[in-house]
Amino acid sequence: MSRHALRVPLGSLWRTAPSRAVPCLAARATVSGSTRSSVRRAYSSSTLDNQNQALAAHLEQADPAIYNIILKNFTSKAVLEALGSVMQNKYSEGYPGARYYGGNEFIDQAESLCQKRALTAFDLDATLGAPANLYVYSALMGTHDRLMGLDLPHGGHLSHGYQTPTKKISFISKYFETLPYRLDEKTGLINYDQLEELATLYRPKIIVAGTSAYSRLLDYKRFREICDKVNAYLVADMAHVSGLVAANVIPSPFAFADIVTTTSHKSLRGPRGAMIFFRKGVRRVNQKTKKEEMYDLEGPINTSVFPGHQGGPHNHTIAALAVALQQTQTPEFRAYQAQVLSNAKSLARRLEIPRKRPQGIDGSRVERVLELVGIAANKNTVPGDSRGFSENDFERVADIIDRAVTITLRLNKAARQAAEEKGESSPGKLKLFLDHVGDGSSDREIVQLKSEVADWVGTYPYPWDSRSSS
Ligand SMILES: *Cc1c(COP(=O)(O)O)cnc(C)c1O
Repeated sequence: MSRHALRVPLGSLWRTAPSRAVPCLAARATVSGSTRSSVRRAYSSSTLDNQNQALAAHLEQADPAIYNIILKNFTSKAVLEALGSVMQNKYSEGYPGARYYGGNEFIDQAESLCQKRALTAFDLDATLGAPANLYVYSALMGTHDRLMGLDLPHGGHLSHGYQTPTKKISFISKYFETLPYRLDEKTGLINYDQLEELATLYRPKIIVAGTSAYSRLLDYKRFREICDKVNAYLVADMAHVSGLVAANVIPSPFAFADIVTTTSHKSLRGPRGAMIFFRKGVRRVNQKTKKEEMYDLEGPINTSVFPGHQGGPHNHTIAALAVALQQTQTPEFRAYQAQVLSNAKSLARRLEIPRKRPQGIDGSRVERVLELVGIAANKNTVPGDSRGFSENDFERVADIIDRAVTITLRLNKAARQAAEEKGESSPGKLKLFLDHVGDGSSDREIVQLKSEVADWVGTYPYPWDSRSSS
């Protein structure tokens, strides 16, 4: 499909609100009371020199403990540099050109450029993480209005309102009413007929089309039809796949959705944060009156982001996001995303073989053994992310996973046996398995596999190692 085919129809303008990233963590730590003038006057000049030295020190000297923990990341060095820039220093409540105070000239430039690049990245005509989804829901719904999303155990995301029979796990289901739709377990595909039937009865205000653990394409057209039938907004949450969409290697939700949200740190390869895109212009023509009904999303969404949920934006994240969005326009980025898709297919083909075996164990146990041999599972990463893996490498990854599953089976049996001998009341408990396995160093097969993984992965350089450019 050409990029042109993905263009939003004329008259449907999009705007973006970089949602200023996840507003938790320590981003708001302010300088302590020591800057008060009375205290400052008491300082000798040598104290000031020491302070300046402390402020100027690189992380490696200033905090070697943290430096050694951080080591590497897989976004680009350029993104990391922007993220660690002076953009971190300034407050800037409001939006470009409409701030609450001065001194935001460069912040405005960075945010406007970021918005422009976001629209370019997804080929939209116009101007301009989980919290982003909350901002969208709050913009469109009052408390206890209704939302439907894919159930978390069936591949959906927490932020689509997960709850169990006894607990509202995601607070989305505390603020709003949520009803999940699910997969057809025979085919593993989203059960669109079920969604349509439930939506017709439930009449949600929002239907979310988006997944965290679903390897098939979404039928956005079908989602659109169901939304039209029940008069719901279609919110496409493309968090996992936005890099693939930007590179145009899978279909885009923009032609069908009213609102698109995405994180910026998954396949988009940017800093940790999120974006919200919303439509402007004509929403639909009223069947009876033949009058055009306009979208009213811009005001409610902007208000929901700020001042509804956020104070000062994370300017360093916005600047870094602008860098990442620029990178999506390069041939290298498109080739990278095409490779990601091929690798996923290669891994999926090979994993079908072990999956067909009767297992009798769960993901938590395999996850632990994989971790002990050097593979991070359940976080959408495998060793060597961004390190030039190809389809053949992913066949090898599948082999390693297969061997780890076999090891897990053996250890699980031994752990259960030992627990039974000790007279444990529930010998199948995960904790007993984990205690039995320990750090894996006493199991010869784990030690062996771990060193194979380390040796192999060690042959792949990081993109910015001098080895990789030689
Ligand atoms: C990852 C993800 C999010 C955001 O999650 P954060 O943990 O807040 O980054 C939202 N929706 C989907 C579908 C996701 O996969």
